[in-house]
Amino acid sequence: MSVRKNYRRVPYHNWKHAVTVVHCMYAILQKNSGIFTELERKGLLVACLCHDLDHRGYSNSYLQKFDHPLAALYSTSTMEQHHFSQTVSILQLEGHNIFSNLTSSEYEQVLEIIRKAIIATDLALYFGNRKQLVELLTTGALDFNNHAHRDRVIGLMMTACDLCSVTKLWPVTRLTANDIYAEFWAEGDEMKKIGIQPIPMMDRDKKNEVPQGQVGFYNAVAIPCYTTLSELFPPATPLLHACRENLSQWERIVRGEETTWAPPETPESGETADTGPVKVDN
Ligand SMILES: [Zn+2]
Repeated sequence: MSVRKNYRRVPYHNWKHAVTVVHCMYAILQKNSGIFTELERKGLLVACLCHDLDHRGYSNSYLQKFDHPLAALYSTSTMEQHHFSQTVSILQLEGHNIFSNLTSSEYEQVLEIIRKAIIATDLALYFGNRKQLVELLTTGALDFNNHAHRDRVIGLMMTACDLCSVTKLWPVTRLTANDIYAEFWAEGDEMKKIGIQPIPMMDRDKKNEVPQGQVGFYNAVAIPCYTTLSELFPPATPLLHACRENLSQWERIVRGEETTWAPPETPESGETADTGPVKVDN
């Protein structure tokens, strides 16, 4: 309840996003049992639930450009460091420390797992992390018992969970994109107010470039992320397939064609997928 209260009513980085991200992590952990310790699993679920705490709807580069106090406090991964700090603050509230039963050594370990996992959601860190993982995979050097390797794997899992709106059924993915752009465009509006031209992605006057922008994002970020995740964890392959399907829908829009999405055949799966995420709560 306290975590939920500390998410703001912004269009995208809100409580709904937090729940979606923790749900994806839960599914990955459930389908890959025996790899992560109980402490890691607890830490990762809490990290996902808390990874965007107190997000104000602005990017790190916006906060840095405008000398926001948070940018002065945290020069790199500005918001992510703030999200972790908020997580620790909530744990320290009276009656809130769900880890109070741990030994002090375990407590330190779980906080480190949470800190590294939340910082890894800074997308700027994803590219270098994935590159290193691909190299470890191709040379056969990846060792799950190596702490540095394990941190990289966990970092990629966090990115995969954070971006998981691109792995939903097309109508959900499409509606979530509206939320994401609502937040981007609000940031672009603020920049225009002080005479700075925002990047096209944040410019509401460049709505017609959205489908091409999405195709670019899928090819440069999302598809490589779920490809590497599937190589690490074969049971995660359905995420890659769903991502590819959504990419093909965006490509159809770019070509000026109708999207070809049809609801799943079984009513159960259709109902499960359509409750909750489609509803826009702002
Ligand atoms: Zn997030």
